[in-house]
Amino acid sequence: MTLTDAQLERYARHIVLKEIGGDGQKKLRSATVAIVGAGGIGSPLIQYLAAAGVGTLRIADDDMIALSNLQRQTLYATDTVGMPKVAEAAKAVARLNPDCAVEMIAQRIDTSTVDAFLDGADIVVDGSDNFETRLLVADAALERRIPLVSAAIGQFEGQLGVFRGWEADKPCYRCFVGSDPDRPDASCADQGVLGALAGIMGSIAAMETIRQTVPFGEDSAGKLLLFDALALRVRTLTLPKDPGCPSCGV
Ligand SMILES: [Zn+2]
Repeated sequence: MTLTDAQLERYARHIVLKEIGGDGQKKLRSATVAIVGAGGIGSPLIQYLAAAGVGTLRIADDDMIALSNLQRQTLYATDTVGMPKVAEAAKAVARLNPDCAVEMIAQRIDTSTVDAFLDGADIVVDGSDNFETRLLVADAALERRIPLVSAAIGQFEGQLGVFRGWEADKPCYRCFVGSDPDRPDASCADQGVLGALAGIMGSIAAMETIRQTVPFGEDSAGKLLLFDALALRVRTLTLPKDPGCPSCGV
């Protein structure tokens, strides 16, 4: 693969970084990123991955745009209320970067759709709004050895982890959250969420997706980042691998 003159100019600020360079930019161009949810996390995530020149964004979301989404879901505009999110996300990506192909999946990811969703994906990013989907996607990604970037927000708190649980010393998502099927979902509709916090955590999810693809700097797999917007405090923990984990334990 070679980069055209227009691509060299478009991605110049990445290419000049020695940690990314032309080789890193080509890896982004040939990457397929599977994204669960085109909402609060998904909006900045999709915008930054499209801007970065990721070759294929496979976006799964079965929702329509609601007026109450616009407080944080910056992919969408007032005149798109009522339209399907994936279709409007694809239009936004096309406006931003014609290099970036979008595969639209206007369905919820469940046991019947997860195989097709992950087929050929290099990375999966989960910004979904329910725990059942998160566990399903995490287990399916682990089984296929696809790195998982998982981001979540609620009220004034954000968390983000990168998981490659098939590696001997790295935890999987279930090592982190356990497997309680009755764990309550903390939904934005019930509890509220600071809109700009979605921007922060979705942007970090994009950064970690690019880090996994290129890669650059320190490996972030097995780390958990916690953002406390009330205190303006960021903490990063190292998650242990659970030797008794039903998903990745031996
Ligand atoms: Zn595990």
